[in-house]
Amino acid sequence: MYDLVVVGAGPYGLSIASHAAAAGLNLRVLGRPMASWRDHMPKGMFLKSEPWSSNLSDPAGTHTLAAYCSARGITVEHGRPLPIGTFTEYGQWFGSRAAPPAEEQTVTSIVPCARGFRVETAEGDVLVTRTVVVAVGVMPFMHKPGPLRKLPPALVSHSSRHRDLSRFKDKDVTVVGAGQAALETAALLAEGGAHVRVVARTDRINWNSPPQPLQRSLLKSLRDPHCGLGTGWPSWVYSEIPWAVRKLPGALRQHIARTALGPAGAWWLRDRFEFAVPVLLSSRLSAAEQMGDQVRLRLESVDGAVRTVETDHVVAATGFSPRLARLSMLDESIRSILHRVGTSDAPELNARFESSHPGLFFAGLLATPSFGPSMRFVYGATFAANRVVQGVQRRLAEPRLPTVPHAARSRTIEQHRTDDQLTGPTAQSQGRGQRPRRAQGGRGPTAVRR
Ligand SMILES: Cc1cc2nc3c(=O)[nH]c(=O)nc-3n(C[C@H](O)[C@H](O)[C@H](O)COP(=O)(O)OP(=O)(O)OC[C@H]3O[C@@H](n4cnc5c(N)ncnc54)[C@H](O)[C@@H]3O)c2cc1C
Repeated sequence: MYDLVVVGAGPYGLSIASHAAAAGLNLRVLGRPMASWRDHMPKGMFLKSEPWSSNLSDPAGTHTLAAYCSARGITVEHGRPLPIGTFTEYGQWFGSRAAPPAEEQTVTSIVPCARGFRVETAEGDVLVTRTVVVAVGVMPFMHKPGPLRKLPPALVSHSSRHRDLSRFKDKDVTVVGAGQAALETAALLAEGGAHVRVVARTDRINWNSPPQPLQRSLLKSLRDPHCGLGTGWPSWVYSEIPWAVRKLPGALRQHIARTALGPAGAWWLRDRFEFAVPVLLSSRLSAAEQMGDQVRLRLESVDGAVRTVETDHVVAATGFSPRLARLSMLDESIRSILHRVGTSDAPELNARFESSHPGLFFAGLLATPSFGPSMRFVYGATFAANRVVQGVQRRLAEPRLPTVPHAARSRTIEQHRTDDQLTGPTAQSQGRGQRPRRAQGGRGPTAVRR
């Protein structure tokens, strides 16, 4: 039986794994390292966040983006956008140095069992573990507007489906959305020879201002403090004290998660975009239909005016919506009864990221309604990794069996024997997954398992 299975090997999963290994936990990390960044973002993109706020987290704080770049002669500085390729390589370097090796396996099921969870992967591995951290990032939660959902992928795609935009050269492409992904995708499409327009519900495109210098007068710093998510007091609260956000009423947190740090383009993108991409503002997409090998979009403005656009392809750069309903890997017996934040479908988490099901933790986007918007960014990984590992250690120290929710109890008892049979080394490493080495310096499982 493992102490912990971390599902996901993005900035959150890798950071949590690093802290957990240093704490001596016996863990497995499942997921493709930096998958969102390697597979789901077009080449040519840049980080929107500042390099100093884009570190993955190890307990010693030595595996920083700056350390990685400086060893390779790459300049990183405040106010200079960093290519996502460099960040992706940094994340992979972090994963290979600061955390136990992640195994490229897809978790298909997490089921409660007698002393924790049974985790199964598409590759055939079956693991039994006392605790699980779900850090699956944003991809399971892609959001497409209703009218686009029934159209075939040849005509409509989500922005995160594209690593290479060159296939749209000379095509007419409509990008729906007004955030950084929409604006940067549109600029890249235009630069790659596509005829592109952006359709936005908003009446203007918001652009972030260039960052203020890090060294400023005390007065300026007090008025508009720097923080991991930019400048200003609201952002400071969200990024520097996410624990305080969690103390707010659920309905307010739900509102903050939905509205804070709304769509805006990075300051460095503005010239590239405005020069090259026409925008249809105040345009709500009310219908979409296939017309041969094109799509006809029906756009309604607030004053009721209707306009139609015919286009070869629609890219929905409409973000991600954290909903447990999308987490099909999580057994219905747990998913259906987890406490939610307000009326949302996101899990309510305690101060250490544990859900209402003992031993089940969430990090990343699904934690946003609990801890605020920093959980959508790499910056939040440091806070999350520390807290999650504290929570896991507390749970492991618990002498009692975790309280298994009622709906899962009968199943759990039935499975008890089977699960115990699975705890031997053969069962733990069965299937094609490889067992990772234990992290250097860890105290070994017995030190923390009770
Ligand atoms: C276009 C774009 C640009 C962005 N730019 C920035 C930026 O500049 N700065 C910033 O801070 N944030 C940015 N973000 C947000 C960014 O996605 C998050 O900050 C960060 O990647 C979240 O890390 P994560 O570990 O939660 O998830 P991810 O990075 O999404 O990683 C998810 C992990 O989960 C794994 N996984 C998923 N499902 C399963 C499964 N069933 N079984 C096993 N493993 C699974 C994946 O393989 C992957 O390893 C951007 C997002 C997008 C879409």
